[in-house]
Amino acid sequence: MTPRRSTAPPRRLVVVGAGITGLAAAFEWRRRRPDDEIVVLEAGDRIGGKLHRVDLVGHWYDTGPEALLARVPEAVQLIEALGLGDRLVVPATTQASVVLPEGRFPLPAGTVLGVPASADGLEGILSPDGVARVRAEADLQPVTLDGGSSGDVAVGALLRERLGDEVVDRLVEPLLGGVYAGRADELSLAATMPALAAQLPGTGSVLAAAAAARDAGARSRGDADGPVFVTVTDGIASLPAVLVAAAGAVVRLRTPAHGLRRTSNGFELSVGPAAAPDILRADVVLLTAPAPKAARLLGEVAPGAVEPLRGIPYASMAVVAMAFPAQPVDAGSGLLVPPVTGRLVKGVTVSSAKWPHLAGETLLVRSSVGRFRDESELQRPDDELTAAVVADVADLLGLSRPRPLETRVVRWGGALPQYLVGHPARVAAVRTAVAEVPGLGIAGAAFEGVGVPACIRDAYRAIDALE
Ligand SMILES: Cc1cc2nc3c(=O)[nH]c(=O)nc-3n(C[C@H](O)[C@H](O)[C@H](O)COP(=O)(O)OP(=O)(O)OC[C@H]3O[C@@H](n4cnc5c(N)ncnc54)[C@H](O)[C@@H]3O)c2cc1C
Repeated sequence: MTPRRSTAPPRRLVVVGAGITGLAAAFEWRRRRPDDEIVVLEAGDRIGGKLHRVDLVGHWYDTGPEALLARVPEAVQLIEALGLGDRLVVPATTQASVVLPEGRFPLPAGTVLGVPASADGLEGILSPDGVARVRAEADLQPVTLDGGSSGDVAVGALLRERLGDEVVDRLVEPLLGGVYAGRADELSLAATMPALAAQLPGTGSVLAAAAAARDAGARSRGDADGPVFVTVTDGIASLPAVLVAAAGAVVRLRTPAHGLRRTSNGFELSVGPAAAPDILRADVVLLTAPAPKAARLLGEVAPGAVEPLRGIPYASMAVVAMAFPAQPVDAGSGLLVPPVTGRLVKGVTVSSAKWPHLAGETLLVRSSVGRFRDESELQRPDDELTAAVVADVADLLGLSRPRPLETRVVRWGGALPQYLVGHPARVAAVRTAVAEVPGLGIAGAAFEGVGVPACIRDAYRAIDALE
């Protein structure tokens, strides 16, 4: 991308939140407006937000995002623009399996977030009745989405009706659990599977819509059939520091923004301790804090955004990183563990098998716990939670040497926004209310994609609108 350079007089951009969205926005703003002042306010005591890494037996090991979807190219492009293209790594294996009460089954190829494009290849992971139920979609009337005024439905409601419960409980739930820590029966079809939803009216069938969405994706990628996922050798969480330096931004840690008001020529933010706040002037303000925090800031300047933002709840999670003695494990890149198993963990990533740079003397594994509305296990103290996760993982992977050499637990309160039914309408309402205020923008995981590449894309979209 060639930077577009502005000739307008210097201004001060204040970004609220030093997660990937805020930092990518700061970087992009600097490319376009080299003379502006950029201040990033961060409530916490470090930069990166959900990007976080630990030292696990001498390896930088991500405990937030660990894989970047390369098919949304903004993350790879940004890493290359930072001069770090040589640190990108592709997986050694991407074969994941689903754990079910009867055993472990490889994830079938060619699904759209678990939604099959045909009944072929589903034997085993579904019962014979379950496969027959999928096949029987062809006998149903064409789909009509009765989503009320929002035109949206829950993924689970549609798929249970059209393809049966097994597809939801055994295929889709594990994948949605992995991406959103959410539940198929509550998540929005339009927001979590937009490509499939777009194909439904034309095809009239879920299977055909999944096939069309998959094929359209393949066509738009053309011959550039590169890796689906990548990561960064010293951790995705190595990016924030590089971004801050490249953006030439002043980052103020432990400095939450808790008030925002318009002035005759811009904005004033009240920042720092609520009892003794500082006032910070800004020409342009970009909010990238999670939805509930952003809602609190918008009451005075964009009240129409407050209720829709409050309608975006978050799931909390914990990630346990574990190093075991090297031993053979036959689980590909990892396991998806849906609620039907009754297990504590919802996923296991075998990092030392998945990523070549992590292969070596030890078996490196991470596992996550916690789903939306099912966070009770997170109340356990660290040592208890870790012991329970280690036991579950050792059992699932069939470890012969199950005593870990090292473990780390990282808790993520408010980890992942839930795109519930009606989410697209909520996002549109927030965007409209914010767009009415010149110089104000909002972006982040709460809106059009929770993945890091989607957050970066949303940061650029916001910058386009503000510039
Ligand atoms: C455990 C886990 C695993 C994940 N795995 C992946 C993965 O493999 N691949 C992938 O692509 N994505 C993954 N994600 C999702 C992705 O990491 C996040 O959606 C993304 O990083 C969110 O970025 P953000 O900048 O929008 O928000 P955040 O990272 O939440 O940043 C917002 C920042 O705003 C700050 N803040 C809040 N309130 C205020 C305030 N009032 N004033 C100032 N600052 C404030 C917060 O402290 C925070 O630093 C994962 C997420 C989690 C939690």
